Amino acid sequence: ETFFVDLPKVELHAHLNGSLSPATMLQLKRYHADSGLEDKTNAFFDEFQIGAGDSRNLTDCFQVFSIAHSLTSTPETLALATSLTLQEFQDDGCCYLELRSTPRDTPQMSKLQYIETLVQAIQKSSLHLTMITRLIVSINRRSPLEEAEQIADLAIEYYKKYPDVIVGIELSGDPMAGVFQEFVPALSKAKEAGLKVTLHCGEVCNPEEVMAMLKFKPDRIGHGICIHPKYGGTEETWSTLCKLKIPVEVCLTSNVNTKSVPDYDSHHFKLLYDAEIPVIICTDDKGVFATSLSREYQICVNTFSLTSYQTARLALNACQYVFADNVRKTLNDKLLNFIDKNS
Ligand code: 5GP
Repeated sequence: ETFFVDLPKVELHAHLNGSLSPATMLQLKRYHADSGLEDKTNAFFDEFQIGAGDSRNLTDCFQVFSIAHSLTSTPETLALATSLTLQEFQDDGCCYLELRSTPRDTPQMSKLQYIETLVQAIQKSSLHLTMITRLIVSINRRSPLEEAEQIADLAIEYYKKYPDVIVGIELSGDPMAGVFQEFVPALSKAKEAGLKVTLHCGEVCNPEEVMAMLKFKPDRIGHGICIHPKYGGTEETWSTLCKLKIPVEVCLTSNVNTKSVPDYDSHHFKLLYDAEIPVIICTDDKGVFATSLSREYQICVNTFSLTSYQTARLALNACQYVFADNVRKTLNDKLLNFIDKNS
């Protein structure tokens, strides 16, 4: 099992507030207690994790994020949550992380301060971590368009200010809320400014939306469940993905625990892999789904009986799809070096 931790891995789909581990949540609660901040999490702290066999589904899962949000509503707690989470990813053998998070206005900070705090926390962590971290700014599909535009503008502003930290923009949140097309102007603006784009795509059956998303030509998509006809997609959605070969950020445990797929064996990873569509193994919300990146690799390898050569290729290929073009070679060399030593 240490092989999966030792394997240098890149994480490209991790939501900050879904990634908080129980240990990090406890530290945040302690911080709240010590500084006399109000802590409303006591009652539902236990409800944060959606483990195997939990009766809750994808829709219910969007409510649990408010538990994490109540612990990251000040610049200090947000910075602490970020630095603890980065450390955990590194300890799990992650050599490159693209963390994503949705800027929120809270009584203690504005969206601008939210982004500023994340950038500062990432820069500070880079002084003592070997893992490279970049930030993707998230837009929640539930946001009014004005707010989406505001977040896109902030992302562009901060990308210009900190091109070595901010690399992309993404659309996430409850897939039953909002209309993709309405977010296109905000996303396009960011794309034109040089930000990379990734979209949560096909989490629920909605072939029209999937087609519109694929036609937008995002740099990557997240999940990509309902694209193949067997999984609620159509011939058209599947053939379009096969033609465009847009890399898919695959989150096995997240999809199983939210019952978006019935079990690991029938996960669409296999379909994507066999169709030679680039796949990147990711955690999504390692705190909520009680997992880690090394565990996701292990589950994938065991479920689909990958050889050690295929496993190493999977990790190596992922380096090609990072949004930070300037670190691709470093990551590639690191993986090749690991493969060299272990073969
Ligand atoms: P945050 O952006 O606050 O750091 O992380 C939590 C947010 O990420 C959630 O409120 C939600 O908008 C988004 N998110 C986390 N996991 C998922 C997921 O599995 N699917 C979708 N569509 N959005 C998610």
